[in-house]
Amino acid sequence: MTKQIDFSVFSSIKIGPVVDVLLIDEIQKLPQDTFLIGGANNILVSNNPPKLAMLSKKFEYMDINDDIFTVGGATKSGRVFSFCKKNDIKGFEYLSKLPGTLGGLVKMNAGMKEDEIFNSLLKIKTLHGYTEKKDIKHGYRFTDIDTIIYEAVFKINRGFDSQKVDIFSNMRKNQPSQPSAGSVFKNPDGDYAGRLIEEVGLKGYKIGDACFSEIHANFLVNLGSATSEDAISLIELAKDRVYEKFEIMLENEVIIV
Ligand SMILES: Cc1cc2nc3c(=O)[nH]c(=O)nc-3n(C[C@H](O)[C@H](O)[C@H](O)COP(=O)(O)OP(=O)(O)OC[C@H]3O[C@@H](n4cnc5c(N)ncnc54)[C@H](O)[C@@H]3O)c2cc1C
Repeated sequence: MTKQIDFSVFSSIKIGPVVDVLLIDEIQKLPQDTFLIGGANNILVSNNPPKLAMLSKKFEYMDINDDIFTVGGATKSGRVFSFCKKNDIKGFEYLSKLPGTLGGLVKMNAGMKEDEIFNSLLKIKTLHGYTEKKDIKHGYRFTDIDTIIYEAVFKINRGFDSQKVDIFSNMRKNQPSQPSAGSVFKNPDGDYAGRLIEEVGLKGYKIGDACFSEIHANFLVNLGSATSEDAISLIELAKDRVYEKFEIMLENEVIIV
């Protein structure tokens, strides 16, 4: 079964074509040459994407058993946050302000500040059964997972922290409200991508309607009718200029599909 998705509406950056996306309804191998999407909060879909697939609603679920919390791969971060608040679970407070599906969050090891999804992760369920956290390479916004995450299992630590929710909300006040895919580049070791973009004169710089935000330069925002070509040209320009001036090669955090 497929679902028609208009990426200029569905994706967080509001850019992209209308595509028939394969709905994955049972545990299977990702078909060859197919890219898996979650909530499209960290991707930029070009005008000529590969075949796309996504998990169906069958993988939207949450369950608690003793001190174990099990979440289906298609479950949205907002639902996980509300569930944790209601059930007094700590460590997921940042999900109040971090859009995504559980599969996308785990694949990207998403997080804010020192909190990230791997902190309380025990294992993930894939086509090959369960894989323990210790067997998954992971770091800052990185994992080596190259297969579909159908489910993730966490250890429950009690004590939902509403002060943290306030801290994360305040952090977001310094970030732009226009459509974006979050941070466009990873922060290089010991530096900030936003600072480097600003240093090379690209803060507020536009190509078409794609712009490095005046509020936070590491956010590439869509001012209205940006195209994927505009956004990709801007990304390449920043990489070239930062490399010329600092000999630092910025690494994309946003995934161009
Ligand atoms: C306004 C804004 C702010 C943001 N702030 C932050 C932040 O502070 N910290 C942060 O870490 N991120 C941030 N992001 C990025 C984004 O929220 C995360 O990367 C999130 O994890 C993306 O989840 P998704 O489901 O939308 O995945 P997608 O964007 O659809 O996909 C991202 C990657 O995950 C893979 N993937 C998706 N589902 C699965 C699955 N079931 N199994 C295996 N792989 C899968 C995709 O193949 C792709 O490689 C922000 C985004 C926005 C729009």
